[in-house]
Amino acid sequence: MEYRRLGRTDLQLSVIGFGAAPLGGEYGTIDMAEAERAVHKAIDEGITFFDTAPYYGRTASEERLGKMLNGRRHQVVLATKIGRYDKASFDFSAARVRSSVDESLQRLKTDHIDLITTHDIEFGDREQVINETLPTLREIQKQGKVRYVGISGLPLRILADVAVRGAVDNVLSYCHYNLLLRDLDTYLTPVVKQHGIGLISASPLHMGVLTAQGAPPWHPAPESVKAAGQKVVELLEQNGIYPAIAALRFALNHPYVSSTLVGMLTTLEVETNLKALDFRLSDSLLKEIDQLVAPVKDLTWPSGRPENSDA
Ligand code: NAD
Repeated sequence: MEYRRLGRTDLQLSVIGFGAAPLGGEYGTIDMAEAERAVHKAIDEGITFFDTAPYYGRTASEERLGKMLNGRRHQVVLATKIGRYDKASFDFSAARVRSSVDESLQRLKTDHIDLITTHDIEFGDREQVINETLPTLREIQKQGKVRYVGISGLPLRILADVAVRGAVDNVLSYCHYNLLLRDLDTYLTPVVKQHGIGLISASPLHMGVLTAQGAPPWHPAPESVKAAGQKVVELLEQNGIYPAIAALRFALNHPYVSSTLVGMLTTLEVETNLKALDFRLSDSLLKEIDQLVAPVKDLTWPSGRPENSDA
């Protein structure tokens, strides 16, 4: 496993990070014993960065991960979030931030969170995030309950703006750097890099689109993107390449991203995704993929308040 420092923090993240959204049941039913084996297999193989949130499974992901990490908490870098609690339930107020961190500490059975992320900030009031949410997290940081503070969301411009004005340690972006989209580097990467802010990129499989199984029913991408994703999957399979391996390898090649978070539920997924470390995606195949994707390149979907959109 390769490890990269996150921005100016002292956190060393495994380049493949373990996304625990599926552990909350976001992608369908779970074989819990197998999921626990997957968590342990990941740690054994050096995947030591774990990301969860109260939102995933409406606290179930945190609860389960907390149990599964029993006795191994010290071996991992643990990230969770505040601010989003359900599909349409957000609260970025100081009081809720404080209670949320305490509840997460209990569910995760730990006395500190390594990275706390303000979840999907485009659904909030941007000035409240800067003037209330982030300063509250800095107070909590002084108490030792969290080590570093960050933000996440889908639109890129608000992430760049709040990252700088809110002086965060890290930005978590998702579905903006994978075989289907590359626009992470248009708005966000140059800004965070210039300020020494960390960058984590999530969803290298475009939340399931780049798998043989395809997207889950709730997936918000336009149908044309899902169809293009399936064409990419077919092309890779025709070339004898397992799609997740190529997709993850592509994401891992980003020069500034410290860790790419991929959601995993089984030991087979962990073992398969580890193969990305030694895989090389040829330029000619990448060119073919780019041609397939060209009609829908960088096509995303609306998320959050209209004033926070990239448009
Ligand atoms: P993803 O692109 O990582 O896809 C996950 C899906 O792919 C799951 O169904 C998983 O079982 C499947 N999968 C993984 N490896 C596979 C393999 N080898 N073969 C076949 N299928 C495989 O999407 P994600 O899980 O949503 O994103 C990764 C993580 O990033 C999340 O779990 C979460 O921790 C984080 N995230 C954060 C935000 C945010 O803060 N707003 C948004 C999205 C993701």
